[in-house]
Amino acid sequence: MAQERISDQELEAYLDEALPPERMVAIENALRHNHECLLRLHRIVSRRDNGIHSVAEIWRRNRLSCPSREALGAYLLGALTEPESTYVKIHLETVGCAICLANLEDLRAQGVPSDGERAEIQRRRQKYFQSSIGHLSRRE
Ligand SMILES: [Zn+2]
Repeated sequence: MAQERISDQELEAYLDEALPPERMVAIENALRHNHECLLRLHRIVSRRDNGIHSVAEIWRRNRLSCPSREALGAYLLGALTEPESTYVKIHLETVGCAICLANLEDLRAQGVPSDGERAEIQRRRQKYFQSSIGHLSRRE
């Protein structure tokens, strides 16, 4: 599916909630997947005086952006792709979603593996992957 270009004017209208509902939804979806669009929205918001306040409110009201618990966990591990992690970061830091912040705290309390542990997990995964490749090719 071709990524549709969303104009700054449309993003402004989105912030003002001045678009028809289908268009609001389309832009919300674009913001989830389109890094460039998300950054442009962010820029528009920071240009506006009460911008942060209003975008936070829109996002909160729509519960638009709550990432799954798995996504928050992956965020803590630094395992998300670039647009996803920007999305989560804005959701947490700009929107300041209380639900997700609480979730994140909870995940943190459960313990996030250290760098060393993560490297170990990565190594084990790779070993497992290689041995299953070997296993598969031996079977042929
Ligand atoms: Zn949230």
